[in-house]
Amino acid sequence: MEVYYSSTRDNSKMITASQAILQGLSADGGLFVPDHIPALSLSMRELAGMSYQETAYEVMKLFLTDFTEEELRTCIARAYDAKFDTDVIAPLVEAEGAYYLELFHGATIAFKDMALSILPHLMITSAKKNQVKNEIVILTATSGDTGKAALAGFADVAGTKIIVFYPKNGVSPIQEKQMVTQKGDNTFVVGIHGNFDDAQTGVKKLFNDQELAAEMAAHSLQFSSANSINIGRLVPQVVYYVYAYAQLLKEGKIADAEKINVVVPTGNFGNILAAFYAKNMGVPIGKLICASNENKVLFDFFRTGDYDRNREFKLTSSPSMDILISSNLERLIYRIAGSDPVKNAAMMKSLSEQGSYQITPEMREQLSDFYGNFADEQETADRIKAMYDNTGYVLDTHTAVASAVYQKYVADTKDETKTVIASTASPFKFTRSVMNAIDPKYDAMGDFELVDELSRIANVAVPKAVEEIRTAPILHDHVCDKTEMKAVVKRFLGIG
Ligand SMILES: *Cc1c(COP(=O)(O)O)cnc(C)c1O
Repeated sequence: MEVYYSSTRDNSKMITASQAILQGLSADGGLFVPDHIPALSLSMRELAGMSYQETAYEVMKLFLTDFTEEELRTCIARAYDAKFDTDVIAPLVEAEGAYYLELFHGATIAFKDMALSILPHLMITSAKKNQVKNEIVILTATSGDTGKAALAGFADVAGTKIIVFYPKNGVSPIQEKQMVTQKGDNTFVVGIHGNFDDAQTGVKKLFNDQELAAEMAAHSLQFSSANSINIGRLVPQVVYYVYAYAQLLKEGKIADAEKINVVVPTGNFGNILAAFYAKNMGVPIGKLICASNENKVLFDFFRTGDYDRNREFKLTSSPSMDILISSNLERLIYRIAGSDPVKNAAMMKSLSEQGSYQITPEMREQLSDFYGNFADEQETADRIKAMYDNTGYVLDTHTAVASAVYQKYVADTKDETKTVIASTASPFKFTRSVMNAIDPKYDAMGDFELVDELSRIANVAVPKAVEEIRTAPILHDHVCDKTEMKAVVKRFLGIG
């Protein structure tokens, strides 16, 4: 059965998956959503015998129904290859009785690689299918990890340019170094004076700027998005939840149809939404546990039904979750509003004008699959240390937030369902915070000294992504104000 996509703010127009991937964000400011969530066509037992690539095909073909088998298999083969440092692509590691789904074995050692390795291929294929002759300009706001993963994915891809905005003082030193050393003539990296929400709001404005779109079209250019609002990001993320369940089944860790819970360290709500889609496809998932850091907008939302971003923005040791506007939540709001674009658009208007909205009691009732909680900075650091002391396994700061929230969930509910924790970054990406949590004495060491020390104490080789930036020259040093983003983009594109 075909799946079509429409905007969460106006569902009168249906487009194909490839068109939705090309556009990224709908012109009305809404996000594209599938008209239904397809059911898996194979049993979990059948899927348990499959490789990551085969699983990816079985899941993605159900969402991207206008792609041919050959197109999709080619995209998958190009994405999930030796860029990953393990054949299984997303290994499960058991620690303290939970299963850590390591999503950081790709080129930039964060889970963004899971989707951004394939997005450029989906995008180019989509352009061909739709006879798009324009050059595609990827415009991205990043809280640190998307930027590098998108840069790595799109660098030197013919027919594309990529521009990344990041909060100048809001990313880790390793994250920044990864981005500003990016090679490729089609890449452009800019730090902005502001936080991630400023960067994301600025990018959304540029997407909706009709004057800019017209000027770009006159130069055979068009924007698309590599942010997690693109369904070309969301769909590949569903795959690893299916794969994780299938692996647990294959290894005899769970029985047929046994439910598992999933914990996701959450920022923009993309990763956990993918888990929700997996559940709705038929993967036996019980609770979706949404873990926040001190920017706990989502915890408050699940607790009260009020989404309120009017609060202090906190810079934490898990910067990829330092977000007060979780864009992908709009897809869930639309769904629990009964797929009513008018209702959803009113809430989003309230969010942009008042910084808050309230869902109805009927909508709240549909959130029973979700459990929200948060971990503060101390709890996160304590979790890293305790896990290391107990098992020798080193968690990154984001995964540690998830792990701490999982402990709170178990204490709250006594639910002992087997649990998969999305492990979203390598500890090598947040070395300083991780090492300081294990022992404050490490604070005296330099960034790369710490990398070597982490490698020693964790008994894990330094990932290639970190090795590469040790000595790499800085190629991007642009910094701008958030009001200058449009001018910066135009200058880079050579359009005035
Ligand atoms: C992006 C990111 C997150 C948050 O994921 P969302 O899909 O935005 O909720 C969590 N951890 C890490 C390491 C990330 O890079």
